[in-house]
Amino acid sequence: MSTPVRTLDDLEVGGRTVFVRVDFNVPLDGTRVTDDTRIRAALPTIKRIQERGGRVVLASHLGRPNGKKKPEFSLEPAAARLAELMGTEVLLADDCIGDGAKKVITDLRESQIAMLENLRFHPEEEADDELFARELGKYVDIYVNDAFGSSHRAHASVHALPKLMPMRAAGLLVHKEVAALEKLRGNNPDRPYVAVLGGAKVSDKIEVIEVLMERVDELLIGGAMANTFLAAQGLKVGKSRVEEDKLALARTLILKARERNIQLLIPVDVVVADSLKATRGNATDVNTIGENEMALDIGPRTVQQYGERLRRAKSVFWNGPMGLFENPAFADGTFGVARAMADSTGFTVVGGGDSVAAVQAAGLAERYSHVSTGGGASLELLEGKKLPGVEVLRA
Ligand code: ADP
Ligand code: MG
Repeated sequence: MSTPVRTLDDLEVGGRTVFVRVDFNVPLDGTRVTDDTRIRAALPTIKRIQERGGRVVLASHLGRPNGKKKPEFSLEPAAARLAELMGTEVLLADDCIGDGAKKVITDLRESQIAMLENLRFHPEEEADDELFARELGKYVDIYVNDAFGSSHRAHASVHALPKLMPMRAAGLLVHKEVAALEKLRGNNPDRPYVAVLGGAKVSDKIEVIEVLMERVDELLIGGAMANTFLAAQGLKVGKSRVEEDKLALARTLILKARERNIQLLIPVDVVVADSLKATRGNATDVNTIGENEMALDIGPRTVQQYGERLRRAKSVFWNGPMGLFENPAFADGTFGVARAMADSTGFTVVGGGDSVAAVQAAGLAERYSHVSTGGGASLELLEGKKLPGVEVLRA
């Protein structure tokens, strides 16, 4: 195993200025934050630094301004929301480097929070530019990374900058993410270890499937991805979304699972309709999908089967919705799996942008051991890849 990441509690922050890279890349409706999950996720770290007498300087990216200063990508709405959540003043610098940043940071009082303007207003951020990183670090003493969702990219604020700063550490969120995913990656996850995979495409998830095949006892497949597996078994899936070029791969995976004694389950029934906008669907056996029908969710018998396995699992990793859950007519499979996983007394982790949104919509997030805030980053960590923004924090 690699050395552990350094954590915030390893550093003496009292009286010091701490640069905290957060992920405030939040959805906006004009000038309002429509989902503040990512802002809330950073609160424990901000509070911990303040409790210990440190001054907090936050930095984040937002959207894709392509290296130019554009008002519609300002972090102003995020700063306003943070001020509401913290009940303190948040001072937004008009730039992340230079005089604007200097003024706000050097005048900062302990109870206030400084926030730097969008890092991506400078093309050097995404280029991992060292000179830019030097500018970012000029007025601060300590570096903390709490932007898990950005840690798989070698950008200046998560990679070049911490390399330059001897006092650097993971924030509480990054630490929790790494610990949860490493527990599933480690040598002895509690068994049975069950993985649930769904979502849009097999092609997005090939590496995860292959890695999970090495570790899990049971692999439960749902979502549009399941259609490719059903078609690979020779079943007629009507107008369902199928990746024709992945049929051979699906067959190989089914054989591999058999060789390794892993139970790979595909749906026994599905919910079909003739349109994505249908207001209701019909549950049908996977052998009887009509020519003009699309499978848009896993069916009730499949939910029951998967649910039983999830309830008795000791470790669970879930990525990818079981159906087109954005339409309530096709949400039962996803919510059914979400509930069964919540009922499990084992170690349960969900990752992936849409899967996490589904868990939150179902109001079940509190009942999981860990809900990952990083889609791409959590999958890469689970695949055993090294995340540039995490590796630089190892002692
Ligand atoms: P995540 O973001 O959790 O990794 P993905 O992005 O892979 O998940 O997949 C989510 C998308 O897959 C959702 O928009 C969902 O509607 C879609 N989806 C799931 N099942 C189906 C299906 N049977 N047919 C069409 N779309 C589906
Ligand atoms: Mg997605």
